[in-house]
Amino acid sequence: MKEGIHPNYSQTTIRCACGEVIETGSTKKDLHVDICSKCHPFFTGKQKLIDTGGRIDRFKKRFNLE
Ligand SMILES: [Zn+2]
Repeated sequence: MKEGIHPNYSQTTIRCACGEVIETGSTKKDLHVDICSKCHPFFTGKQKLIDTGGRIDRFKKRFNLE
């Protein structure tokens, strides 16, 4: 089997507004997000923020969690 079947899938750096940098694999490059697993209450368990605009859904889509 040859490699490079998915040439668009490569290492990507996701930068969050809180300063967190996440290295992951994605077909997109250098993503910028407002929230991440380090600062989002959905992951931290802290209910400081309320999901009012489908942010969690967008977050999941951006990180291919669905
Ligand atoms: Zn963050």
